[in-house]
Amino acid sequence: QAKLQGRGQCKFYSPEINAQLQERLALENELHGALDRGEMVVFYQPLIDLDSGKLTALEALVRWQHPTRGLVSPAKFIPIAEANGMIINLGEWVLQTACAQNRAWQLAGFPPIRISVNLSARQFEQPDLVQVVERILQETELEPSYLELEVTESFLMNDIDNSVKILKELRNIGLWVALDDFGTGYSSLNYLKRFPLDMLKIDRSFVNDVTSNSDSAAVTDAIIALAKSLRLNITAEGVETKEQLDYLQNRGCNEGQGFYFCRPVPADTISNMLEKDARLLEV
Ligand code: C2E
Ligand code: MG
Ligand code: MG
Ligand code: MG
Repeated sequence: QAKLQGRGQCKFYSPEINAQLQERLALENELHGALDRGEMVVFYQPLIDLDSGKLTALEALVRWQHPTRGLVSPAKFIPIAEANGMIINLGEWVLQTACAQNRAWQLAGFPPIRISVNLSARQFEQPDLVQVVERILQETELEPSYLELEVTESFLMNDIDNSVKILKELRNIGLWVALDDFGTGYSSLNYLKRFPLDMLKIDRSFVNDVTSNSDSAAVTDAIIALAKSLRLNITAEGVETKEQLDYLQNRGCNEGQGFYFCRPVPADTISNMLEKDARLLEV
């Protein structure tokens, strides 16, 4: 129950908030050493070229295989790792793991595809980010053109000039840069044209109701038109139904990602799919 004490002082007692806080503290404690204990795993979710129906890329998505809690979603622990700085090591490990895995698939003889890795704000602030990425590409012997890094507007906007500089350096390596969750952030069109980018990913909140909500449809259309005029590749996240897919194909969206095609799955499952040359979309 909420309880006000004195002037300008507010003490708030709520069993739910307390339980949430406890939970977060417990998770934070257990997160320490989780990487060293081998509890982190990288899952991969296919991106499909909507013209050819081919699998063209995979997004690396980290999961925490917790000894008692089971598979913990990144939505739960990434914000904690962001807050306490653990995301820097974790993010580097995900990048290393994803690049090594992609190289292993190439060496196994599968047609080369892009691997896409999410960057966090804290990683983006590291002065040695570009060197770390270059080092990992060298160590894993992955050609830069098979790596894509996903950034978000919220952290690009913190220091625009510096963000432009870092994005240029990253693209000079020869990798691709995607703007993730597009439409949910500032979406300042003025700055968008300054950021050197290769792709926009339409946030799944728009894709989710693109066939049932005219506002979402309007935003999706506008994002696709914008991407086309800026000559950016466009990916739709969160495609769950045939209707959404049809809509996006009709509008000329380049790539799709979502449960309709495939959920994020372990590397082994991807290996099996590649081996059988599985089609996730018939065209
Ligand atoms: P994101 O980068 O936008 O990744 C896409 C998220 O959408 C993933 O959630 C994916 O499982 C989910 N998704 C894909 N298709 C569908 C669909 O059809 N329907 C629905 N409802 N969801 C779909 P996930 O794996 O839980 O990751 C959540 C977020 O956590 C990611 O959002 C990303 O921001 C963050 N994250 C995950 N792995 C990493 C990482 O290695 N580093 C960093 N910095 N962040 C990560
Ligand atoms: Mg992403
Ligand atoms: Mg992301
Ligand atoms: Mg996203």
